[in-house]
Amino acid sequence: MKILDGKALSEQIVESAKEKAAMLEPTLAVIMVGNNPASAAYVKNKHKACEKAGIEFKEYTFDEGVTQQELLDKIEQINNDDSINGVIVQLPLPAQIEVPLVIRAIDPAKDVDGFGAYNLGKTFLSPDFEDLPPATPLGIVKLLDHYDIQVQGKEVVVVGASNIVGKPISTMLLNRNATVTTCHIYTEDLAAHTKRADILIVAVGKPDLITEDMVKDDVVVVDVGINRKDDGKLCGDVDFENVSKKASYISPVPGGVGPMTVAALILNTIRAAERQRQSS
Ligand code: NAD
Repeated sequence: MKILDGKALSEQIVESAKEKAAMLEPTLAVIMVGNNPASAAYVKNKHKACEKAGIEFKEYTFDEGVTQQELLDKIEQINNDDSINGVIVQLPLPAQIEVPLVIRAIDPAKDVDGFGAYNLGKTFLSPDFEDLPPATPLGIVKLLDHYDIQVQGKEVVVVGASNIVGKPISTMLLNRNATVTTCHIYTEDLAAHTKRADILIVAVGKPDLITEDMVKDDVVVVDVGINRKDDGKLCGDVDFENVSKKASYISPVPGGVGPMTVAALILNTIRAAERQRQSS
């Protein structure tokens, strides 16, 4: 069994982004609402990676009671600010905010999380991901590529069908000629699907959802889930200890997809800056 070491690969990607960053001097803006500790930790990791890559990082913090209009006004201001190349709104947002409206307000050219309809649509149409693909799925594709894991003709099973992970990664791997099955909460007999997987990607948010008896020998497992156990430690959606005994490759949590999402964000920010320079 080999570990899909997202942490090491992410460090390499961030390091190799330096050269382009020095030339483009990009700026990433992050909008953060409230003080959810998990969100604060993710923003801190993004800040650190930007510092390492040489990307300027601007953080705009709002308190929990922020109105929808205040957020939309800030996004509008960032959209019109030529000195900012990319913007992300750290999710989750409080209940009074309609997330789809916030995502829709972001200029597609600056949507470095790749959550908006334009960039998701481009992901659907283009196997080359020439725009700004959603960051976590892009990180997963980079991880599979790095370990030379072929997807063409393979049975890929994705568990989880969210707009930010499950659906786009299913489409991206379909575009690379995998045979893709996407499972979700209403899937009957989940194990019947997961057992067929050559490559199993799990993005649900439930510890130990995938157990040893649900996978075949030599499966490649990508665990996207981030859960906090009672002892405070992080874990994924896969019973790592036992599934890793059967897997040919497996990504750990932490140290797998999480850092790759940050690396993908860096790549998207540089791409956004490059494209804005070309079109100006
Ligand atoms: P989501 O809550 O939007 O979607 C969860 C999906 O899982 C849904 O499609 C739902 O139908 C499915 N699901 C729920 N219970 C299921 C079950 N018992 N069997 C099969 N499917 C089931 O979640 P999301 O935003 O895609 O995030 C999923 C997980 O990935 C979370 O733990 C999140 O923290 C993590 N995440 C990690 C990263 C990263 O960078 N590593 C990025 C995004 C999300």
